Amino acid sequence: MKHQTLVDKNLEYVWHPFTQMGVYRQHDPIIIEKGKGSYLYDTKGRRYLDGYASLWVNVHGHNNKRLNKAIEKQLKSISHSTLLGSSNIPSILLAEKLVEITPASLRKVFYSDTGSAAVEIAIKMAYQYWKNIDPVKYRKKNKFVTLKNGYHGDTIGSVSVGGIETFHQIFNDLIFENIQVACPSFYHSQYLTEEALRDAVLSQIEHVLRTRADEIVGVVMEPLVQGATGLFVHPEGFLKGVEQLCRKYNVLMIVDEVATGFGRTGALFACEHENVEPDIMCLGKAITGGYLPLAATLTSQRIYEAFLSDQHGLKTFFHGHTYTGNQVVCALALENIQMIEENKLIRHIQKTSKVLDKQLRQLATHPHVGNVRGRGLMYAVELVADADKKMPLAIATVERIISECKRRGLMIRNLENIVTFVPVLSMSKREIKKMTSIFENVLLDVLE
Ligand code: PMP
Repeated sequence: MKHQTLVDKNLEYVWHPFTQMGVYRQHDPIIIEKGKGSYLYDTKGRRYLDGYASLWVNVHGHNNKRLNKAIEKQLKSISHSTLLGSSNIPSILLAEKLVEITPASLRKVFYSDTGSAAVEIAIKMAYQYWKNIDPVKYRKKNKFVTLKNGYHGDTIGSVSVGGIETFHQIFNDLIFENIQVACPSFYHSQYLTEEALRDAVLSQIEHVLRTRADEIVGVVMEPLVQGATGLFVHPEGFLKGVEQLCRKYNVLMIVDEVATGFGRTGALFACEHENVEPDIMCLGKAITGGYLPLAATLTSQRIYEAFLSDQHGLKTFFHGHTYTGNQVVCALALENIQMIEENKLIRHIQKTSKVLDKQLRQLATHPHVGNVRGRGLMYAVELVADADKKMPLAIATVERIISECKRRGLMIRNLENIVTFVPVLSMSKREIKKMTSIFENVLLDVLE
């Protein structure tokens, strides 16, 4: 089909996510037709380096033969049968693998299909856990401790534990109340050292837990890096500190590794950096190598056992989706994890991360670069109008930079004035350098 016909039909029929369609309509859209390795190709035949890993999901590159084969092989047996009342082979094998590779505290796997659903399940499970063990003693527990600037998805529950003001303004009447503490982002804080910031936010959390533990179900957080709202990197020891507080005050620790999981921060899971063993972990995005939707909520044995009973209606977790544990996605995820292991991908990411870090930090002296931060292959460059006052660069200018990057063959995204670099995880050092040099040239040209 011709590009222009697709453009017309796109505007006629598709409502795009997180998009002001009134603005979108004014521009010629990019329509992706195919992918290969670290590149995307559009209907005009243009090629783009995938610097956002197709929304932080792609692991081994596009159109990977082995992943394609894993899908085809499963299709030849069966595509889908329900996990309600029966089980299936790939979902069993994948659950075993996920338990093997995640922190030792996690023993059971509950499947779903989006990161939002994985978090929704986590908060419902955590809430019901307390009701199941003692509904009288824990009757008041109905709140979560959350971090400002947290992002956990778009369903009402996951928005409720998120920390994005716009969402909270629009949906205020629908969302439930939680207790929000500061986001430990050093660049945006008034503290002189990262340690001082870490200790201040930890003592804020401790104060909340000490005074309101009877109301608190658990702490919900993105570990190490708060991604979708601006890639805020936590100070060293913060994650461990939260774990210790959860243990001290007997509340559940729920980590949302939807974005950080499967190597993104330079370890298979962000929790590994600080040897943290959460009660619940949410996974999604890269779990299938970025090919098909799958998510999972992993829990400890203690939580699982609190839901056991001899009677069906008693203590049961009443939650499940039609495609829970779908065979094709589970078989694909298993192959993805095997490839991560066989290709020693984590070691590769640790090496390419050094290149990305070095290249981006060279930009730090630019007058409009306020801050460069990140872990693994998850980096941000915060653009400012005034570096001393940390005043954000005008959004229109940032958008010009992003669209010029696209014009020169680099697909990246901005979160307001923060430009993010979250490339395909298997990207080579050469491709990483290409990505940063396109950005650098655009920055110099647009901001001249
Ligand atoms: N949690 C985190 C940390 C995320 O980054 C995201 C997606 N950006 C989600 C949850 C929601 O995932 P999904 O978009 O698949 O619902």
